[in-house]
Amino acid sequence: MSTIAHNLQVVTEAINVAAREAQRAPGEVQLLAVSKTFPAQAVLEAVYAGQRAFGENYVQEGVDKIHAVAQARGCTPLEWHFIGPIQSNKTRLIAENFDWVHTIEREKIAQRLSEQRPAGLHPLQVCIQVNTSGEASKSGVPLAEAGALARRVAALPRLALRGLMSIPEPEHDFDKQRAAFRVLRELYDQLRAEGIALDTLSMGMSADMRAAIHEGATIVRVGSAIFGARNTNQG
Ligand SMILES: *Cc1c(COP(=O)(O)O)cnc(C)c1O
Repeated sequence: MSTIAHNLQVVTEAINVAAREAQRAPGEVQLLAVSKTFPAQAVLEAVYAGQRAFGENYVQEGVDKIHAVAQARGCTPLEWHFIGPIQSNKTRLIAENFDWVHTIEREKIAQRLSEQRPAGLHPLQVCIQVNTSGEASKSGVPLAEAGALARRVAALPRLALRGLMSIPEPEHDFDKQRAAFRVLRELYDQLRAEGIALDTLSMGMSADMRAAIHEGATIVRVGSAIFGARNTNQG
């Protein structure tokens, strides 16, 4: 078995254990394999091991990989999630090539994605990225503005608002990890109670996915635990 196939088994088992601990069904937590900085060949190894959903942070790298993987695999249905910062001059490539975007933090970007989403594709599935770390983080919409942004995004015709996403500041302590994820989950519960249809909480990475699953994550975004350590100057 390849290292990637083995790592996928280990991560899947860790997700199942965490879900059981949290008295949740393992099927409630989807594994997004974050393949940024790794070649198409690594994605293919994961595909052969049964993985279907992949996350990319850099637009051109992601688009090149999507095409390379499609050439090698024909029409195997894969799901590509964009999880990096979005510049407005890159929205068209994202709208044309990805299935999901987790990192909506401005209405203007959401409008462009909606306008540029090709008519032949299903609506782009999106999450609002929320800054749950206050001053410590520069990415994500401030907590207090997330509800208003969610309402405006939900109204855009070619986007389907699915949920919320966060990248908390790294913490080693399990309880502190949980506390950061709880902030996002409470916002999620509140927005749902106010009538916004959401079903996705994208939170948790290799180092903190157990805490995220305890707080209700429905998608965990896992890179290094599957593909190995990344070259540090590439994110
Ligand atoms: C790189 C990245 C991940 C995966 O991080 P790992 O620590 O390698 O699991 C998840 N989410 C986002 C937004 C990332 O940029």
